[in-house]
Amino acid sequence: MKCVYCQSDVLSAEPITVSGIGPAHRHCYEKSLVEQRVFRHLNLRALPDADLRELMDMAKMELNVREADVQSVDLWQEDVLFC
Ligand SMILES: [Zn+2]
Repeated sequence: MKCVYCQSDVLSAEPITVSGIGPAHRHCYEKSLVEQRVFRHLNLRALPDADLRELMDMAKMELNVREADVQSVDLWQEDVLFC
C-alpha cells in the first residue's frame, strides 16, 4: 500500500488510515494538516475572515481567563502562608 501523500510504501513508518482518503504515514498526514491549517477537524483556511477573528478573540479570552485563574491560585497560596 502506498501513502496518499508521498506515494511511498506505508509500512515503512507508522501507517494510519485517513478516513475517506486512504492509507498514509502519520507524519505525512500531520504535515498535511499543518499545511492546510486544520486544527481538530476545523479547517482554518475555509473560515470567513469574520469567523476567524471571532475564533482568535475567543482563544485570547480563554487564555486570559486561564492566566487569571493561575494568578488567583497563586495569591490564595500566599494568603495561606501568611495565616
Ligand atoms: Zn507518506
